[in-house]
Amino acid sequence: MASAPYRGRLAPSPTGLLHVGHARTFCIAAERARAAGGTLICRNDDLDRDRAKPEFVRAFLEDLTWLGLKWSEGPDVGGPFAPYSQSERLPQYRAALDRLQATGWVYPCRCSRRDILAAIAAPHAGDDEPIYPGTCRSARLAPGEVGRVAWRFRVPAGEAVRFVDGHFGPQCLVGGRDFGDFVVWRQDELPAYHLACVVDDAAMHISEVVRGADLLASTARQLLLYRALELVPPAFHHAPLVADANGQRLAKRHDALSLRALRARGLTPTEALAAAP
Ligand code: GLU
Repeated sequence: MASAPYRGRLAPSPTGLLHVGHARTFCIAAERARAAGGTLICRNDDLDRDRAKPEFVRAFLEDLTWLGLKWSEGPDVGGPFAPYSQSERLPQYRAALDRLQATGWVYPCRCSRRDILAAIAAPHAGDDEPIYPGTCRSARLAPGEVGRVAWRFRVPAGEAVRFVDGHFGPQCLVGGRDFGDFVVWRQDELPAYHLACVVDDAAMHISEVVRGADLLASTARQLLLYRALELVPPAFHHAPLVADANGQRLAKRHDALSLRALRARGLTPTEALAAAP
């Protein structure tokens, strides 16, 4: 039987400038798609209404092009699974939430607004959410509360989620120990990162997700979502994290290591990729 064609994706969030860490991960993603004779998709993860800015979309398109990366589907070129900007795909996420509600995989949660608001972004190293104590697990929706609560995924306690990572090999993360019930929908009617990511990767027929190693626990959460939504998960390949000279993971605050800053200093793309340890 012929295997499905390789489809990979670059999924930047336009909440700041891309830095060397993003660049290395995206180059690995592009190289894996090229080596497999596959297709590369660019997706604009712009759900964060407060932080996503059109100028950062322009900046990532320009920076990725400067790096020499090419995609055949994306927010700038369209494609068969358009739209490629998450802010334009809310009905798809809503339909997935409806399914999770109908099958009892999610419950309404009235806990800390702060945790729930943070769920819109992918939890990168050091900012992963604490294990949820289960306060609202048996909560029910009160009449008139629709649209005013968040929704959390019911992670089976003690379940070992296993997958073989393309780079790091066999992984095993245990529900309730390594990660807890996570937010899939915020009370301000926006999907959380995990739900949007799963819905889009499945809808766009992504066959392999390449992303930073700080998202390994996110992958375990997302595998539970694939199962709950009866979707086929892609393969996963986590890229080693890039640190600064002090051993700290690169974040968007590291403006000096942004691709723009390196380019302005006259570095070539190859030199920019080597600009962190
Ligand atoms: N937009 C997310 C980020 O930049 C994507 C994470 C992922 O690859 O799933 O963190």
